[in-house]
Amino acid sequence: MTVETTGSTNGRPQGVDEVHILWISEGLSCDGDTVSVTAASQPAIEDVVTGLVPGLPTVHLYNKVLSPTLGGEEYLAPFRAAARGELAPFVLVIEGSIPNENINGDGYWTSFGNDERTGEPLTLNWWIDRLAPRAWGVVAIGTCATYGGIHAMAGNPTGAMGLADYLGWDFRSTAGLPIVNVPGCPVQPDNFMETLTWLLYHAAGAAPPPPLDELLRPQWIFGRTVHEGCDRAGYYEQADFAKDYNSPKCQVKIGCWGPVVNCNVPKRGWMGGIGGCPNVGGICIGCTMPGFPDKFMPFMDMPPGASVSSLAAKPYGAFIRRMRGITNGTVNKEPKWRHNKEALTSGYDPRYRP
Ligand code: SF4
Ligand code: SF4
Repeated sequence: MTVETTGSTNGRPQGVDEVHILWISEGLSCDGDTVSVTAASQPAIEDVVTGLVPGLPTVHLYNKVLSPTLGGEEYLAPFRAAARGELAPFVLVIEGSIPNENINGDGYWTSFGNDERTGEPLTLNWWIDRLAPRAWGVVAIGTCATYGGIHAMAGNPTGAMGLADYLGWDFRSTAGLPIVNVPGCPVQPDNFMETLTWLLYHAAGAAPPPPLDELLRPQWIFGRTVHEGCDRAGYYEQADFAKDYNSPKCQVKIGCWGPVVNCNVPKRGWMGGIGGCPNVGGICIGCTMPGFPDKFMPFMDMPPGASVSSLAAKPYGAFIRRMRGITNGTVNKEPKWRHNKEALTSGYDPRYRP
């Protein structure tokens, strides 16, 4: 089924009334991103699909965990229709990393449904090859789909990669959009829903395309480091470092990579604004990053650059901490003129009294 575009109004680009979201989680993954998105609240995925978010097109979501179908051919029908060019416009969401099926020997690495004629499994790669060129927009959800993630570690046998490595970093959808990467292991639920909602407003003709950085991440989400939003950053500045995981102090010496990792989770929290790895005692292991996990291992060891930066911060931080301690003691005392004696000692000058 092809949905007609609506007319242009107020000089805005043409929009569409309906959008299908074809979400395939048969990449190499744990389905954690699908599970994570069920916790979104800004907006909630159920609000988007039930039309409670004003101004969005009607959304038809096809995701195996969130599907009302019983599975099988009923579930596969919209995917097959889209592959035949009979369903548009659609946003293709890929979850999980893409294996290299050129090196699968006599088998296959991952599949989604079977070929109707031969009964042979259809690989994820088969679907991507047919759906991506017809997609209005393409979104990679989670670090596996964006950059390869855990499955693409050194020594893996599958040749796993991210979607842009597979389709090409210069890929463009039928709407002229690049792949939109929303990394995270798993993805922070509101990061994904906010990005998807922006895309849907763009589809409706009500917003420009979402701004992305050179790694195709939403700029407004991944433009700052974990450290810049961390509750513990004040301890770092004062060179007050945790020695174990029971401490509320800065965790850089016990494995936190926050100063060099692009992620907004300490600011945003995980669910309903609560949590956010270092805020609640978890070191940042760089799970949103293209170099994850290899470049951050072994986890819980001090990052190589941290010994230099924490050493440099030490003399300044120790001095500043002492000075602040003195000032803190001063500002914790009330001024001495607040008393109930017979004389006014506030320093009030009565010169202008009549
Ligand atoms: S815990 Fe990590 S992110 Fe937070 S201040 Fe320390 S180094 Fe930075
Ligand atoms: S703070 Fe670090 S470990 Fe936590 S979600 Fe962000 S990148 Fe991943």
